[in-house]
Amino acid sequence: MRYRGLLEGKHAFITGASSGIGAAAARVFCREGAAVTLAARREERLSALVDELRATGCEAQYVVVDVVRKEQVEEGVARAVERFGRLDVAFNNAGVAAAGTPMHMMGDEVYDTVMDVNVRGMWNCLRHEISAMLDEGGSIVNTSSTAGLVATPVAAPYIAAKHAVIGLTKAVATEYAARGIRVNAIVPGATHSEMTDAWMAAFPGVEEELVRAALLPRIAEPEEIAEAAAWLSSDRASFVVGAAMPVDGGWTVR
Ligand code: NAP
Repeated sequence: MRYRGLLEGKHAFITGASSGIGAAAARVFCREGAAVTLAARREERLSALVDELRATGCEAQYVVVDVVRKEQVEEGVARAVERFGRLDVAFNNAGVAAAGTPMHMMGDEVYDTVMDVNVRGMWNCLRHEISAMLDEGGSIVNTSSTAGLVATPVAAPYIAAKHAVIGLTKAVATEYAARGIRVNAIVPGATHSEMTDAWMAAFPGVEEELVRAALLPRIAEPEEIAEAAAWLSSDRASFVVGAAMPVDGGWTVR
């Protein structure tokens, strides 16, 4: 029997698709048979990735969306549905991190940005994606972080935001499971990306510390997170709902 891609025949909306985990997910979702709509703010990145994916035979388009702006999210999801006729899968992955400053010295603007993008952005996306999935059902994966399960110093807003992502995931899963929409969170450990590489370069020693604490003592590649997101999004994860799935090399085990 022919191997059937995990996401064959599905249309997936991926946020934060211009780099890192989201761009890796775009490639993996396409390889697994999905048509994709890629969302982020940096148009040149999205456009180049769409060209790359189309060259492999994948049906792909991009929408320029700031997830904090609900009208942009509404329009982005509407354009996704218009182009592909339906929305089966959403990977809500856009996020920003901030770390390195004790909480009492951190500016309110850091809190605002981190909560806006990671939590309000997720809220905006979920509302429009769920609306688009109500008739036919679907699957949504939200990107949290090990910072959504455990705390480390000098990253209070990020830790609060990523805990909130898991809370939102559980709440929304509870409301929509009976309507055929599975909602789960993925919990990446430290992963090579623009965000993390910049942070590790700014704080020498952090990488060694992170690596030491994991059972698999290394930083993940974005593709390793994307592979897990593809499976969790797919019908092969049909009994998984409301879960927060670590993909962290065992970092949260002990
Ligand atoms: P990244 O390469 O910096 O990617 C972040 C993505 O989010 C980019 O595509 C960025 O695109 C997008 N984004 C940021 N703000 C946005 C906004 N306002 N509207 C729309 N898109 C926005 O970092 P990454 O590591 O792949 O991060 C992806 C997700 O994984 C984030 O949620 C992050 O918190 C989470 N995570 C990462 C790690 C890690 O170690 N790398 C670990 C755990 C969790 P534009 O700038 O083009 O908008």
